[in-house]
Amino acid sequence: KLYSIGKTLEGRDLWTMELTNQETGPGDEKPGIWIDGNTHSSEPTGTNVCLKTIWYLTSNYGKDEQVTEIMDNRVVYVLPRVNPDGAEIFLTKPYHYTSGGIPNPDFKDGEGHYEEDVNGNGYSAFMRWIDPNGDYKKSKKDPRLMIKREAEDTLERDGPFYKVLREGLFLKWKPGKEITMAPRMFLGGSNRNFPAYWAPGGLPLGGSGPFPLWEREPRAISDFWAAHPNLSGMHTYHTSGGLILREANAHPDKWFQEVGCEEDLEVYKVLGAIGEELTEYPCISIFDEFTFEDDRPFRRGCATSFFYEQLGAFVFSTELWDWPWMIGLPHFRDRGGVDFDWARLSEDEQLNELKWIDENYPEGFLDWTLFEHPQLGPVEIGGVERKYTRRNPPPGKWLEYEVDKCLMFGIRHATLLPLVRITDHKVEKVAMGVYKVSAQVANTGFMSTNVTKMAVKIKVAKPVIAEIKLPEGTELVTGHEKVNLGHLEGRSAKLLLPRVIGEDVVDKTRSSVEWVIKTEKPVEVTIEARCPRAGTDRKKVTLQ
Ligand SMILES: [Zn+2]
Repeated sequence: KLYSIGKTLEGRDLWTMELTNQETGPGDEKPGIWIDGNTHSSEPTGTNVCLKTIWYLTSNYGKDEQVTEIMDNRVVYVLPRVNPDGAEIFLTKPYHYTSGGIPNPDFKDGEGHYEEDVNGNGYSAFMRWIDPNGDYKKSKKDPRLMIKREAEDTLERDGPFYKVLREGLFLKWKPGKEITMAPRMFLGGSNRNFPAYWAPGGLPLGGSGPFPLWEREPRAISDFWAAHPNLSGMHTYHTSGGLILREANAHPDKWFQEVGCEEDLEVYKVLGAIGEELTEYPCISIFDEFTFEDDRPFRRGCATSFFYEQLGAFVFSTELWDWPWMIGLPHFRDRGGVDFDWARLSEDEQLNELKWIDENYPEGFLDWTLFEHPQLGPVEIGGVERKYTRRNPPPGKWLEYEVDKCLMFGIRHATLLPLVRITDHKVEKVAMGVYKVSAQVANTGFMSTNVTKMAVKIKVAKPVIAEIKLPEGTELVTGHEKVNLGHLEGRSAKLLLPRVIGEDVVDKTRSSVEWVIKTEKPVEVTIEARCPRAGTDRKKVTLQ
């Protein structure tokens, strides 16, 4: 099923695909997982992971056992483009910093540099111009490359020197004035507007927007989740860096134990290991290993905090496309983690970047060409075009390579969701016209029916209910029609237990229920077991 879950400021639909076999039951009655991409407008690679997920699940039903099992018993909701307004600008205009596409009313009144396609070639790359006080010089090995001027470089021996700046224009320009940065052209779309640890003020520490869920896209997604208590897992695809980010965003790992949710950390590690195996990217705690200096102590208003701490779901945010690794540098941890600094790359390392672009995506480098800049005078415009090199894989082979690596992560997560099933049931005639109906309800999934301990702690996980549905003319002699069976554990509950084979462990994955019913004539009754996060199962029995 394809439907729109909301509209953007500019009126674009947030198209969402619901994937399940409708013949085995509606999506709402199945455990669900959410997959989205392109929250940040400059990261359309995530959209491609989503689209290929849709393709994979729809084309492999009946052919692939895992896909068939997922489509029959679970539901996958995919929103390929969270931020269509910002993405539209990114994809069709030369701009790189398109945020949520919401025009910033303060932009025109600001002053300083803003990115623009000054020479009208369709790109906004870089500008360089000769300046005796410049910080850059041309590489002697490849004059296309601008490298840092060394401390002892002199004009006579090592010049000429250059100023380098992103291609752009200046608001309120005055020749000779110090270069400052103009306010951003667009607002929103920063993943800081969710109602978790939201704070007023501008980025980095404040949330984005005047209040939480001010932006239409996070609001539509939150509304959808509120209306779909069957959802308990999320994969949100970003770029770049080659990392799998997991909770917690706002706390160090020891916090899980402090709040009684250490089991969640163990499940995060099991799921994370699947992602690591598929992608070779490390799965890391956002707080412990991915909080940039500007964001410290932690990011506010982020999706991952909201969906784990307030909705009790397991959340992963994958940063696709390990550009440093593509050009020969180590993976994330070995290159220094968040402290890795592009500005410290050696000349040869930077030349490797040009080499990769020359060999794989020549459109990614724009030759320096002379241009009469309306404000700066003569400049050269060119350099690396970052959209499909540093930020995203180039279209074609490399995009496919990246998407294929990550595709199965969300799908394999779906197979580990809990699944409530009536595993046994029987009818006994106890007297004339009196029958005992008994059933065993079990969670056959890996995760517990509450999915996270957090969901229990914050009371958002609904219990398993067993219900007998009786037709007219019958009477329930003992028991209640609806019986609360609480939460049924999954195999994940044993992750923290001592791993002694054969050790006596109480089996909390199943529960039994019975009803005694009186009826004058033969009737058919329905036993139903349901839990929003773990699905619904029904059995019909005849009393005669
Ligand atoms: Zn992002």
